[in-house]
Amino acid sequence: DKRLDRVKETVAAIPDFPKKGILFRDLFPVLTFPDVFKGLISLMSEYVKDAHPDCEGIIGLESRGFLYGPMIAQELNVPFVPVRKKGKLPGELVQVTYQLEYGTDTFEMQKNSLKPGQKVVIVDDLLATGGTMAAAVELVQQVGGIAQCGLVVIELVDLKGREKIQGTVKSFLQYS
Ligand code: 5GP
Repeated sequence: DKRLDRVKETVAAIPDFPKKGILFRDLFPVLTFPDVFKGLISLMSEYVKDAHPDCEGIIGLESRGFLYGPMIAQELNVPFVPVRKKGKLPGELVQVTYQLEYGTDTFEMQKNSLKPGQKVVIVDDLLATGGTMAAAVELVQQVGGIAQCGLVVIELVDLKGREKIQGTVKSFLQYS
């Protein structure tokens, strides 16, 4: 697909960020080209329309999932619901603590943000070890929703993150 080729050409690879030995994949350059970004959003939206025609919501993960999630939700005409880092959301919450490379982090979601059995797709920019996406799947289940799929632009396949996720993971670009 031409749209994906354009994204692939535009993604940057930055060595030794945020630490020595890490090759960081940067998707922000994609957003500097409105046509490339539009193409990516249409690819992601079409995937959800085809694979999950009964999708009733898009969940976005703070913070880079917030760039893609609301745009896809608009395209599909379904609600967008955020998952945020601890302490950012008001009201009654559910939370999940998950493992990072060093230490842990906590994600939160509002208790009444989904209706019972609501089918949703979870969006983030990149799947690495899978800890972040797995935590989001758990949160969706805690608030009574059904996670149909974890949707990311990039998958770092060697880290085998998808093995950690119950259910499907869809990625558009794969790197070792
Ligand atoms: P995981 O929990 O799968 O190990 O890490 C995924 C999370 O870390 C995502 O929210 C993603 O934004 C961030 N992340 C990890 N590595 C990279 C990277 O190389 N590039 C970008 N853009 N994000 C990364």
